[in-house]
Amino acid sequence: MSNSVPAASPDTARLPRTAWPKVLEGQPALVTGANSGIGRAVALGLAQAGADVAVNYVVNPESAEEIAHQIEGFGQRAIALKADVSQEDEVEQMFAKAINHFGTLHISVSNAGLQRDAPFDEMTLEQWNTVIGVNLTGQFLCNRAATREFKRRGLVESVSVAMGKIICMSSVHQEIPWAGHANYAASKGGIMQLMQSMAQELAPLRIRVNGIGPGAIRTPINTAAWSTPEAYADLMKLVPYKRIGEPEDIARAVVWLASDASDYVTGTTLFVDGGMTLFPGFATGG
Ligand code: NAD
Repeated sequence: MSNSVPAASPDTARLPRTAWPKVLEGQPALVTGANSGIGRAVALGLAQAGADVAVNYVVNPESAEEIAHQIEGFGQRAIALKADVSQEDEVEQMFAKAINHFGTLHISVSNAGLQRDAPFDEMTLEQWNTVIGVNLTGQFLCNRAATREFKRRGLVESVSVAMGKIICMSSVHQEIPWAGHANYAASKGGIMQLMQSMAQELAPLRIRVNGIGPGAIRTPINTAAWSTPEAYADLMKLVPYKRIGEPEDIARAVVWLASDASDYVTGTTLFVDGGMTLFPGFATGG
């Protein structure tokens, strides 16, 4: 057995070819945590679909600038904006700069997230507060700022039949309990209720709010789960579709939820998980 990551395994051949029709032209977007993993792919996917993109980051400005340049290479405008999403003043300033730069925003993707894992009885209040602060409060602050801008601008039907679109990056762990990760699972369960309550409240304004529940996606957040053949084989026991997800799998779902193609969809979590939420243990047991 080779030691390499199974990147060139049958997985690669099974990835769909991506076409990006320009369905998001004239709809500037802001993506948090956009200089790594899923956020990076989402920012690039939105740009390939015709959106100008604000690339939020909190560390590694060089990678954020590089992604902004890639977006410009697709013929779209881009701006890299530093902000810690758990800090109200930084979020407010970031949205003000993005709106000033692009004129408005039509799409907001709350993607930034992190883990601080610990056995439950050893979990510190700091670990708890850090995860809730970034993953949940960060989404509240960004979603509120986006909603205020959508309402200020009003509906522009020549651009989109919705006043605005908010996409909340959740996880399969909004449903699947996760021992050793109580703070993370609680934050994702909270995102689901935040998303649904917002969707219910804002639907009459034609602001659509949806979530995405990624399964196991190949990013730095979960390197330990896929970076050795043994770990990868173990992971596949949880994935009926028998390949790891790639960040681009999530980007395609975000583009669809941000476009008018999904216009009647609000308050939904779209699981992009290769079937991880299908109780795979029951395929042969139970
Ligand atoms: P990642 O670590 O590659 O990216 C996380 C991004 O969030 C980074 O850019 C990081 O700098 C940013 N971030 C962290 N704290 C921040 C803060 N305070 N302010 C602004 N940005 C901050 O991980 P990823 O896998 O790309 O994760 C993206 C999202 O997807 C997260 O919300 C994560 O919970 C979710 N998710 C990932 C997976 C997976 O398998 N990779 C599965 C389910 C859900």
